[in-house]
Amino acid sequence: MKILIASDMEGVTGVVDWDHVMPDRPDYPRFCRLLTGDINAAVRGAFAGGASAVAVTDGHNTSRNILIEELDERASLNCGSPLTLLSMVHGVDQGVDGVLFIGYHARAGAQNAVLDHTWSDARVANLWINDRLFGEAALNAGVCGHFDAPVLMISGDQTACAEARDMLGDLETAIVKRAVGRMAAECLPPAVTAELIERAAQRAVERLKAGNAPAPFKVEPPITLTLELAKSEMADKAMTLPGARRVQDRKIQYTAGDMLETYHAFRALVGMAR
Ligand SMILES: [Zn+2]
Repeated sequence: MKILIASDMEGVTGVVDWDHVMPDRPDYPRFCRLLTGDINAAVRGAFAGGASAVAVTDGHNTSRNILIEELDERASLNCGSPLTLLSMVHGVDQGVDGVLFIGYHARAGAQNAVLDHTWSDARVANLWINDRLFGEAALNAGVCGHFDAPVLMISGDQTACAEARDMLGDLETAIVKRAVGRMAAECLPPAVTAELIERAAQRAVERLKAGNAPAPFKVEPPITLTLELAKSEMADKAMTLPGARRVQDRKIQYTAGDMLETYHAFRALVGMAR
């Protein structure tokens, strides 16, 4: 049973500020170590639950955050920027049986959510897919679903975990902190969160083995993506994508045949909206 661990960083143990997750800030190295600790806990849990292989994809920012010298030696690491067409879920097309999301955060605009955003804090105000608000968890889960891989577990704050359960169904959760604002949370120490993450990952893989895991998250075509950008100027620039429609001042729509095309269109629009 092959498991992919797809990581982000804003939902990692102890993270409450951009200073913790941006490479040019002095606090960043500490949080790379904490990220690696959360990942290792998930690796241990996945193998304890019956995984035969575990690959890890470093999905935050430049994809160079996880400390490979401290990574559990049974796992492999996908890292380096840019991480091909599948980005945060790179590797999910390689015959993966289930996916664990580690260090995830809530969608842009969510209340009591550490560093809530959707892909780009500066550019994306809102993302709807088929008229439903999507954050990164649902967006990436849709790509996993395209390849028939279910998302089995998520770790992050209580709002990220609740959002994932609302969108993706009955997956396992590890709440490593309770957000009380955007830049503040009641955080559990790493010795405690490692236990929570390991247990959740183990349960997640055991359920997959027992045929009791959540189904892959499928978004039915045709898929309408509606992207609200932060400024109208960004929408002006994003309109150079063929097929993009300006439906309102800062809102662009695009219709896709499947979730993979949706993902590519979304990333292209955000990339152009600088
Ligand atoms: Zn991130």
